[in-house]
Amino acid sequence: MSEEYIKSIIKAQGPLTIAQYMAICLSDSEHGYYIKNIPLGKEGDFITSPEISQMFGELLGIWSATMWQNMDMPDDIAIVELGPGKGTLMSDFLRGTENVPGFHDSISVHLVEISPALKEAQKKTLEDFDIDIEWHQTFSEIPKKPSIIIGNEFFDALPIHQFVKTVGGWREKMVVETEDGILNFSLSPTETTSCALIPENLRNSPEDSVVEVCPSMIVIAQEIAAHIIENGGVALFIDYGYEESLLKSTFQAVKDHKFHDPLQNPCEADLTTFVDFSAIKKVAKENKINVHGCIDQADLLKKLGIDVRAKMLSQNASEKQKQEIELQLERIIGENQMGRLFKCLALSNPLLPTPIGFEDDPITDV
Ligand code: SAH
Repeated sequence: MSEEYIKSIIKAQGPLTIAQYMAICLSDSEHGYYIKNIPLGKEGDFITSPEISQMFGELLGIWSATMWQNMDMPDDIAIVELGPGKGTLMSDFLRGTENVPGFHDSISVHLVEISPALKEAQKKTLEDFDIDIEWHQTFSEIPKKPSIIIGNEFFDALPIHQFVKTVGGWREKMVVETEDGILNFSLSPTETTSCALIPENLRNSPEDSVVEVCPSMIVIAQEIAAHIIENGGVALFIDYGYEESLLKSTFQAVKDHKFHDPLQNPCEADLTTFVDFSAIKKVAKENKINVHGCIDQADLLKKLGIDVRAKMLSQNASEKQKQEIELQLERIIGENQMGRLFKCLALSNPLLPTPIGFEDDPITDV
């Protein structure tokens, strides 16, 4: 059982950092949640915007085709998706851009996915498209050519370290096994080497503050920024997150569409954290690429014409389907729903105009 597996690692190596715990739970080659399951969709543990409505992928397709036009329509461009789930977003993306003259002839699709189960699902979803599609284990394998990079709910699944400010200084939050044989949190007795990752501006935070750092996100953001500078292109990330540290834990688990204790049923629940968009912005700035946003998901989708698209879909729909479209629309752009909770951040090569949907936003300084 996966809980015993985690305990055996703790017995052999000592307490795990939250980053190690998340990495094992989500992507261990045998036990990992993403490796052995199809975690998302109605039958899975959580649902994402592209799984709620086809309009999401269609509009990101239109966003990308417009960016391609702004790049003077290169005839060999990579469309890259990070963590494509069941392939639904890409399927709607490709269907939604079928009529953009020259676009499909110019693109190859590159899916970055670690999960064999999801890779199979993506293959099936995308089998009818007559487009060159390649799968990659990491972003570093993406061919060196102009690229449009998309990631929806990708960064929130990457492992984070958590640090807590105590009277004695910063300590790292660890996962231990108690004497009663239960997995629990505990603080490191002294500073760990990872404490060096705490950003300078947060070092003086008050006692009990929690700071989260995601080194693997910073590495991928760095690779993406370098790729965009060298090869041209843009990236768009959509996730639940913040631009200013909340100074509290955002580590959570979701199972059967409900919140769950992250230390219960390890490897059987999705583990996520809020994304620290300021860390991505900092990397972009250091690499001298342009940053746009964050803006709310509702604002981006509205600027891309989601209301008009919903009306078009409703025109040929039955009463029941019309109601469903309304509900889907409400879920992905609603005020108290994903529309405001989810944020969009775009990065672009400085030679390109501001990406559509982000025009009114000043380029903010970090
Ligand atoms: N974007 C999809 C799925 C989000 S779930 C949607 O919106 O529906 C997270 C996705 O990222 C899954 O496909 C998961 O297998 C993948 N993933 C998680 N960690 C990854 C990693 N380190 N590298 C590549 N893919 C990863």
